Amino acid sequence: MRIGTCVSKKGKISSGFLRVSYKSKSTKLPIKIIRGDENGKTAFISAGIHGDELNGIKIVSTFFKKVDPSLITGTLIIVPILNPIGFHYGERRVRYDDKDLNRCFGKDKNSFSYKLAQTFMDSVVSQSDFGLDFHDSNKNYILLPHTRIFDKEYKEVDELSRIFGTEIVMKRKFKQGFLASESMKLHKTPVLTVEIGGGMSVSSKYLNEGIRGLNSVLAHKGMLDAEVLLPEKQFILSDRLGYKSPIEGILTINRRLGNVVERNENLAEVYSPIRENSSIIRAKNPGILFSIKANSHIKANERALSLLHFKKQKDEIIPTEAKVILNQATSTIHIYTTGIFNKAMDLMKSHSKDFFEALLNE
Ligand SMILES: [Zn+2]
Repeated sequence: MRIGTCVSKKGKISSGFLRVSYKSKSTKLPIKIIRGDENGKTAFISAGIHGDELNGIKIVSTFFKKVDPSLITGTLIIVPILNPIGFHYGERRVRYDDKDLNRCFGKDKNSFSYKLAQTFMDSVVSQSDFGLDFHDSNKNYILLPHTRIFDKEYKEVDELSRIFGTEIVMKRKFKQGFLASESMKLHKTPVLTVEIGGGMSVSSKYLNEGIRGLNSVLAHKGMLDAEVLLPEKQFILSDRLGYKSPIEGILTINRRLGNVVERNENLAEVYSPIRENSSIIRAKNPGILFSIKANSHIKANERALSLLHFKKQKDEIIPTEAKVILNQATSTIHIYTTGIFNKAMDLMKSHSKDFFEALLNE
């Protein structure tokens, strides 16, 4: 296989670049191809479509630096950064034409970002059986790790999300121009979107979670000699509830990502240094802190955080609107029981009577 200047060699990791040029502008995408000794599936792993999403870029880079090619079956194409221009400036978009690259796939239009998207689609996606595309929340927010699937059923994407093994899976609309949508439409290549962390800050905990998911998917697909490790439960959600700041000011968040919160709990304070007043943001219902603003300056009506709310179903507490998947150990699947939700559920069970009453009164 050859992509740009990168030529695969059996049992080796090869390096090279794929050049993309449009009029006077150009960029080079770094490419790695890991070719196993045995033939098998071809998959791509990419990150950095948005230049300010560093966790994905770091996960993908750490993976190819650590992986032993003798454990690989088939061919892995690795593109750690799809938007080097955005990365250079620390921003989401491609500065050459001010486009969001993840809205430019599958569109026959003239401009640098469309050309970049089309080059990636033709050179990488078209020859892959499946792909994993890593994102994070962007420079402004930090998110709990989750994968994204479509609101319509796409079996192969749903399967990738289950095996990647985040406790949270979010549904979203199948939109034109997304890498994951257009790969499916144009080449029938399922692509899983992974979201981990954010705030232009790399977390080692999330890094490990990303590598674990990557290993599980590749092991499941018969491409890597590794364990498939899944949580006991996975929750498929369609939404979270955002909480906005009523005033402009300095934001102090009192809880951490993944913390369980009670109804009316004080989640954050916004202080206006000009009016010398404060506003408190309280939980409308019990839930788990799902995303937080990464820096402390906040405008009026800007989102400060979001919560996954809960409801009581039989004897279980599950997130509102969630579908629960129970995973069981098999000869190839191992189960871990130390996730955020298990901790949260334990904490809730030890919580006050009020907590349950709040759920029942909804
Ligand atoms: Zn992104």
